[in-house]
Amino acid sequence: MKRLLVLAAAATALFANAQTYPGSKPVSIVVPFAAGGPTDRVARDLAEAMRKNMPGSNFVVENVNGAGGTIAATKVAKATPDGHTLLLHHIGMASAPALYRKLQYKPLEDFEYLGMINEVPMTLIGKPQLPANTYRDFENYIKANAGKLNIAHAGLGSASHLCGLMWQAAINAKEAMTTIPFGGTGPAMNALVGGQVDLMCDQTTNTTGQIEAGRVKAFAVTTAKPLSNHKLLKDYPSLQDMGLKGFNLTIWHGLYAPKGTPPAIQAQLNTALKLALKDPDFIKKQEGLGAIVITDNRVEPAAHKAFVASEIAKLKPVIEAAGKFAD
Ligand code: ASP
Repeated sequence: MKRLLVLAAAATALFANAQTYPGSKPVSIVVPFAAGGPTDRVARDLAEAMRKNMPGSNFVVENVNGAGGTIAATKVAKATPDGHTLLLHHIGMASAPALYRKLQYKPLEDFEYLGMINEVPMTLIGKPQLPANTYRDFENYIKANAGKLNIAHAGLGSASHLCGLMWQAAINAKEAMTTIPFGGTGPAMNALVGGQVDLMCDQTTNTTGQIEAGRVKAFAVTTAKPLSNHKLLKDYPSLQDMGLKGFNLTIWHGLYAPKGTPPAIQAQLNTALKLALKDPDFIKKQEGLGAIVITDNRVEPAAHKAFVASEIAKLKPVIEAAGKFAD
């Protein structure tokens, strides 16, 4: 029955809207985390670039945070498939199936894939008051203070949660810290800068400005190699170089529409996305924040979907090995 309703809605939307899309109605890009965080940053830059490249359109950002991004993904999976509600999500699209037993959507079945946007390394950061200044001192400090420290994240299945789990497992410090969830790492960053939480692992799109301003301390990047091309982040070692064998985490963002969105509208959105990814202002902003804009074939919906499928398969054993589950 639900499938029939989706098909009927898609058919109506196809005939009513394909010629006139997007019309005067705004296109809402739903972000699964709080405003002022890294996913929000990518969405706002992308909305601006897509507006510029799709004349007459009005892309707006809507923050729907909670439950590590799964509330927003559920909302978009169930939205009217008319091209006016989109989802911009990160690696949580692939980590959630391993973390949530009662997920209310199927990542590979309930969405139309519109293309990938970027890849973003992460950084391990701490509050400015921490006594450590190097990664080695930081790891020793964590171990010496087991049970006394807390680590912020953006909910189960978020990138910060995943990174924290993997890192704690890699240094054998799973029990050393209390985890503190926030609606996004925007608010978590405020708590870190204010010294209310001790540490966090977050995307460079949120950490670069704070590191540069000296409001947080950075200790390492999560990529296999240091980010030698970035003017600020090149100064930090990779966790792999610090002895955490095989540690390599880069997160990514993609754009999605509810299943049943008319193909003509999907094609228009994919074209607008590709133009946005070539927009020099968008590229400059993203690269300044340590992100790498996608230039390979993962801007194509089929390759985007195949990549997410491979990430789901890759992350399941990693999450199980790190050993935490949610409902
Ligand atoms: N960085 C967050 C995460 O850990 C999400 C966000 O606030 O954008 O997933």
